[in-house]
Amino acid sequence: MSGLEALANEVLRSGTLAGLPTGHFIDGHFTAPSAGRMMESFDPGRGEAFAEFAAGTEADADQAVASAARAFPSWRDTVPAARGRILQRASQLILHHLDRLAVTESLDSGKPLQEAIGDVRGAARTFEYYAGACDKLQGDSFPLGPDYLGYSVHEPVGVTAHVIPWNYPLSTAARGIAPALAAGCTVVAKPAEQTPFTALLLAEILHEAGLPAGVCNVITGTGGEIGAALTRHPGVNHITFTGSVPTGQTVMRTAAEHVTRVVLELGGKSPVIVLDDADRDQALANVMGAIFENAGQICSAGSRLVIQRGIHAGFVEDLVRRARALRLGHGLRRPDMGPVNSAAHLGKIAGFVDRARAAGLEIATGGETATDPDTGKGWFYTPTIIDRASPHDEVVREEIFGPVLTVQVADDEEHALALANDCQYGLVAGVFTRDFAKANRLARRIDAGQIYINEYFAGGIEVPFGGTKRSGFGREKGLEGLLSYCRTRSIAARIG
Ligand code: NAD
Repeated sequence: MSGLEALANEVLRSGTLAGLPTGHFIDGHFTAPSAGRMMESFDPGRGEAFAEFAAGTEADADQAVASAARAFPSWRDTVPAARGRILQRASQLILHHLDRLAVTESLDSGKPLQEAIGDVRGAARTFEYYAGACDKLQGDSFPLGPDYLGYSVHEPVGVTAHVIPWNYPLSTAARGIAPALAAGCTVVAKPAEQTPFTALLLAEILHEAGLPAGVCNVITGTGGEIGAALTRHPGVNHITFTGSVPTGQTVMRTAAEHVTRVVLELGGKSPVIVLDDADRDQALANVMGAIFENAGQICSAGSRLVIQRGIHAGFVEDLVRRARALRLGHGLRRPDMGPVNSAAHLGKIAGFVDRARAAGLEIATGGETATDPDTGKGWFYTPTIIDRASPHDEVVREEIFGPVLTVQVADDEEHALALANDCQYGLVAGVFTRDFAKANRLARRIDAGQIYINEYFAGGIEVPFGGTKRSGFGREKGLEGLLSYCRTRSIAARIG
């Protein structure tokens, strides 16, 4: 048995994981919360608490921001290639600690272990990518004629705050922290109160990789208390917020007080268009993954299938068959689909589907709460497909953030486009067709930040990611993600 399986089995047996951090990570070490208060983190697969973590307060946010501010000048002035070497070591150490990170992530979030392993590998890749970018952040020169010298440099913005949601705790932390560090910024990150642990472990790994004390701090606690304290802090120069629209709006309003820069990565209700000439098996597999991976708790989940009329009935029948075959279970038992993250979230998902059922919509499959078949515990929702939904239905308009797919029928390409764009969000979209000209036409006209053609979730850290409309603004990932943490300084000199 591998070390990973042994650790997973031990956690399943004992119901907890030994040695998890209990404090904030500030100034290069774990430190107890100043008010001495702790909170519980829950295992969604059992619906039971498994560990405690620090319930931070404003004083802790102050301490972390002060630490990041002290560390900034020397990190800013560290030779970029040297910054890159530390990030590269961090990438290797993330892989070295893969077992512990993946088991912690699966236990804390509920996601299947194989998905958590993918997230850890993705985090390592993110650090590798930005390690290589540190010494390639070049400025420009400007043609002012022989008597002048004009040039620009990208300089780091300073102390950056990162507010992180519970669905991809480690990946989201990595995709913000790695480019911030690469640019020469320092960091205070706040993971969600549902999933505090992997961000803390990441901070410890960065320290092990040689990151100086204070360059990356992680504080834990509720959004209302420590999250709000962090985002209104005058010492913070930039905020990367990933989460819901209402909280994003609050953060944006708060940031306005000190004219602090923000990147907002918010919700989604992303369409997957399947045209009648699509490769059927490829489309089926991708539509399933787009909505049932991480139990649909993905900002970029493909939660609205828009399918051409000629193939609609048979395609939905196949989807239903596949959805019914999905095996639910505790994340650490590597199920096809794990639990949702909390009891409150389960109630919210069930509420959407119950209202749809009461309104007479056709629930083709699913629509029930469930438990782990091995233990009878946990917060599960059956894979759900709601057929023949219309644009005004609540389940089509609102982000459910669970394993619930709605199906809308389109007459042709233009109709599919209109249905896809009839949405308050614009994060991503999928298009399935064998005709690349059609795919390209749609990709240019769907109002979303990223379009996947013939493979949902195609692309990696190299590809910029972010929303339009209520999905937010600003871009993470890619070189554009690096520039989010920079400001341009232009210099013009008379030399002749
Ligand atoms: P949420 O907005 O409730 O919480 C997100 C984070 O904000 C948490 O860390 C929380 O503690 C913190 N927070 C809460 N109140 C705060 C406040 N007043 N000030 C500062 N911080 C505060 O979101 P959630 O329910 O945890 O996450 C799900 C949402 O996140 C979904 O809408 C999903 O689509 C979105 N999301 C978006 C992306 C993306 O990249 N676009 C990625 C993942 C999740």
